Amino acid sequence: MIRLVDVSKTYTLPGGVRVEALKDINLEIPRGEIFGIIGHSGAGKSTLIRLINLLERPTRGEVWVDGVEMTRLSEEELRRRRMKIGMIFQHFNLLWSRTVFGNVAFPLEIAGWPRAKARERVLELLELVGLAEHRDRYPSQLSGGQKQRVGIARALANAPDVLLSDEATSALDPNTTDAILELLKEINARFGLTIVLITHEMSVIEKVADRVAVLDHGVIQEVGEVAEVFARP
Ligand code: ADP
Ligand code: ADP
Repeated sequence: MIRLVDVSKTYTLPGGVRVEALKDINLEIPRGEIFGIIGHSGAGKSTLIRLINLLERPTRGEVWVDGVEMTRLSEEELRRRRMKIGMIFQHFNLLWSRTVFGNVAFPLEIAGWPRAKARERVLELLELVGLAEHRDRYPSQLSGGQKQRVGIARALANAPDVLLSDEATSALDPNTTDAILELLKEINARFGLTIVLITHEMSVIEKVADRVAVLDHGVIQEVGEVAEVFARP
């Protein structure tokens, strides 16, 4: 589903200083897997997720998502493909002036869904995340866990093949974190979509991931089954 071949990403700062955010990354994530990427701040996690999300082009190497190599695609094609990649965030990134319903409807409006079909789809998604009765509330009227449920429903709107989670539980308390991770597992089992989860917390990876990559200073230090990688001295 996702394959990175010898990928490096270098940022050039104003003044010409170069930052090697990722170095020679090789990674293969099969369809339906829950894959964790763990690392400290500055390790290159966000850069990696922006590459998989087709928001950033690699300096070197190839990024394959769903059988297509991104560096060969036009901006228009990338924009279209991005709709098949869902994304959830630490701070939810909801639209504060829109209701729960309006937030989940938003990506469908962008994709040009007819109103009636979109309405049906939104109600189905809100049912899935357990927020149907809160559909007319505004984000400010929701708990953190409920806000993330809106984020998840919105991310799933266009039936993506891949769901990317960027520290999606980092702002939540432990019980709420567990509930959200359970929901992600349920969604993975039900729709078979691939989930890539970025976090700095081992416990998150242990609870949901099938495999994990440990990223440090732009390099993958280890990759494998979670129990194996975390058991190594
Ligand atoms: P993480 O998400 O693990 O904290 P990042 O991918 O954000 O790591 O950052 C990796 C390195 O790349 C850091 O040194 C960071 O300062 C640098 N970096 C990230 N994004 C940019 C950017 N847009 N421009 C310049 N440097 C960047
Ligand atoms: P606003 O129209 O003030 O931006 P929303 O963001 O809630 O409010 O609405 C976005 C879209 O979703 C609008 O087309 C609105 O009519 C529709 N909508 C909002 N709530 C519901 C609901 N409970 N059932 C059906 N459609 C709704």
